[in-house]
Amino acid sequence: MIVDQKLCIGCGRCRVYCPVRAIRLENRKAVIDQDLCTECANCQRANICPKQALVKPALEWPRQVRSQMSDVTTVYRGVNGRGTEEMKTNDVTGRFKKGFAGIAVELGRPQVSTTMRDLEKIAMVVAAHGAEFEECNPITSYIVDKATGKVNPEILDERVISGIIEVTVPIERLRENVEAIIAAADQLDTVFSLDVVCVNNEDGSNDARTILDEAGIWYRPNAKNNVGLGHLDSRREKDVSYTA
Ligand code: SF4
Ligand code: SF4
Repeated sequence: MIVDQKLCIGCGRCRVYCPVRAIRLENRKAVIDQDLCTECANCQRANICPKQALVKPALEWPRQVRSQMSDVTTVYRGVNGRGTEEMKTNDVTGRFKKGFAGIAVELGRPQVSTTMRDLEKIAMVVAAHGAEFEECNPITSYIVDKATGKVNPEILDERVISGIIEVTVPIERLRENVEAIIAAADQLDTVFSLDVVCVNNEDGSNDARTILDEAGIWYRPNAKNNVGLGHLDSRREKDVSYTA
């Protein structure tokens, strides 16, 4: 996003709409830090500028990645923005089967943001521990080598509000993956949350919980019952052909 300096009157109304605090006032004009800006378009979409001075230019590669990952109105390769729908609709898709666990690592947040470089670090950690990347996920589409988790080097400096790595691991490799992700936290210049999904056994026990308990890893149990929205996912056939 840029500010048309000829139109801007420096009222400052746009600043609070920026989730990464990229807008500042300088000499009574709004200025956008182009490194911080994630091209989310929140400021423009809020429609609060009295002079229509916020302008979204045509984005070129690799800056387009910022918009693809941060603008909530973007639908990139059939997946909306941050996209964890595979994990959230597992009762419909059955993507995570018995004997496997799903892991999602959610990097960045509004006010904090992250970069594709940080996302690559986690992708490489889980790839080294036998994880399989979820195809129906925007981050996966930027990974050029799924065996190593390497992301397209052209986009590593692109900043996004957040990004989620989704993988599946054999249940016996869950502990090593979770421990490796936690150990990698010090390498990151952002925050992340870690989600694990695993279907219950017939008796109500859950293998992931048993493993995390044995490892002494704290977690907050969460259950999900899909009451129907997942069944409306008419994109399913398209998602199957979703490739990097
Ligand atoms: S496009 Fe988004 S990140 Fe960039 S200045 Fe506007 S609100 Fe901030
Ligand atoms: S809202 Fe518009 S006029 Fe006011 S500071 Fe922002 S860009 Fe300038």
